[in-house]
Amino acid sequence: MGLFETLGRVFSPSREEAVRYRCPNCGREFVYRADLRDPACPYCSTDALERVEWAG
Ligand SMILES: [Zn+2]
Repeated sequence: MGLFETLGRVFSPSREEAVRYRCPNCGREFVYRADLRDPACPYCSTDALERVEWAG
């Protein structure tokens, strides 16, 4: 599962380098690198993700 490998590798980046997303389909939240293009949900492959602002 390449998507899971990618997620594990980028799961703890600094906030400046990461974008937090929420999947409107399955409701999960996860983090991707800010320079990743066309991110998709690693759980259900939905690509219509919502960006989530970092809290605090
Ligand atoms: Zn999803």
